[in-house]
Amino acid sequence: MELWIQPCDACADLHGQRATVDPHDDLALKGAGVLKGDVVELHYICKRCGAAFTRILAGPPGQQTWMLLNAGQH
Ligand SMILES: [Zn+2]
Repeated sequence: MELWIQPCDACADLHGQRATVDPHDDLALKGAGVLKGDVVELHYICKRCGAAFTRILAGPPGQQTWMLLNAGQH
C-alpha cells in the first residue's frame, strides 16, 4: 500500500459517504475488523488508485461512513 495516493474520482466521491452506500467497482474487500463477535468495519483497497478505505459499520449512525485513509493533501 502506498502511503499517500491521489484518489481516483470514484474514491474521491465515496469518501465521507454513508456506510450503506455500495463500494464502487474497483474496490476489493481486504478484511474485516471484528469486535466481540460483531463485524464493526470492513477494509477495502482500490485496484485503480491504491486507496485504502475503512467502511465503518458500528457506532453512532453519523459515524458510519466510508473513510479514505491514505489520500494526499491536494
Ligand atoms: Zn480509487
